[in-house]
Amino acid sequence: MSAETLKCDVLIVGGGPAGLSVAAALPDNVSSIVVHQDAEIGKPVRTSGGCWLADVKQLGIPPDFYQIIDQLDIYSDTQEAHFKINNDKLVVLNITDLYQWLARKSEKKRRQLLLATKFLETQQTKDGQYLSTIRSRNTSASQIESTYIIDASGVRCSVLHSLGVKDKSIRTGGGIEYEYQIGSNKKDHAILFVGSSVLAGYGWVFPTADGKLRVGVGVLRPDTPVSPKTLMTNFLNSPDVNELVWT
Ligand SMILES: Cc1cc2nc3c(=O)[nH]c(=O)nc-3n(C[C@H](O)[C@H](O)[C@H](O)COP(=O)(O)OP(=O)(O)OC[C@H]3O[C@@H](n4cnc5c(N)ncnc54)[C@H](O)[C@@H]3O)c2cc1C
Repeated sequence: MSAETLKCDVLIVGGGPAGLSVAAALPDNVSSIVVHQDAEIGKPVRTSGGCWLADVKQLGIPPDFYQIIDQLDIYSDTQEAHFKINNDKLVVLNITDLYQWLARKSEKKRRQLLLATKFLETQQTKDGQYLSTIRSRNTSASQIESTYIIDASGVRCSVLHSLGVKDKSIRTGGGIEYEYQIGSNKKDHAILFVGSSVLAGYGWVFPTADGKLRVGVGVLRPDTPVSPKTLMTNFLNSPDVNELVWT
């Protein structure tokens, strides 16, 4: 084994909501390393952040991190529907702030967070440990030895794929999102767009807890070859959207 090997009880691959929650939930006497390929937690944003109020309350997420939605408007090519939400409220999460809060929850534990660090592969040694190879801008180590390994890499399934347990997902989601000042738009109204303009996906206009309006488009691959950026440009240039978003 090289001198450049880090050691921990639990290696967590991926610093999204799953990985950060695992790190926060581990007992204080268990050491962990979270490897996260992005340079920052919660950036880039990989979700539009729609969720349920009951769930965020159960998870103990402070209200600063979400906007409660009282009305949902859904538009398709030919129809529109408007739902006043009385029970089972929706919320829109402030993703970057929330994920950074999740990361802080494990700060005082025996947890090391390696940003800009990509997990490449793992193998089990004869004594049952996991020896994982990483590539990092923040540590000279290239290997991590751990007793347990957790795949929190999301749809990439990096660990499971490396262990031959699961094929990489052929169906993935991707999107693009811009933020605007909320202006005179209603703070508790969310809008979804479906239909031919966003085949195999949807568009959204979501108010946030910090007074912004997030406008986004998400698509599924390989269901559609169209890039979210192209869809977004078309979407923003449509006269209807200008009316809805910037009134
Ligand atoms: C366009 C879009 C819109 C969505 N909207 C919603 C929504 O409104 N509501 C909702 O509930 N869900 C939504 N989702 C789904 C939601 O994003 C996922 O369910 C959620 O992000 C899964 O969390 P996770 O922690 O498992 O994985 P992820 O959030 O994907 O986090 C995994 C992290 O691991 C990192 N990683 C991956 N591979 C490696 C590696 N080899 N080495 C190091 N790091 C690695 C990635 O950079 C990533 O940040 C949406 C998804 C998309 C694509």
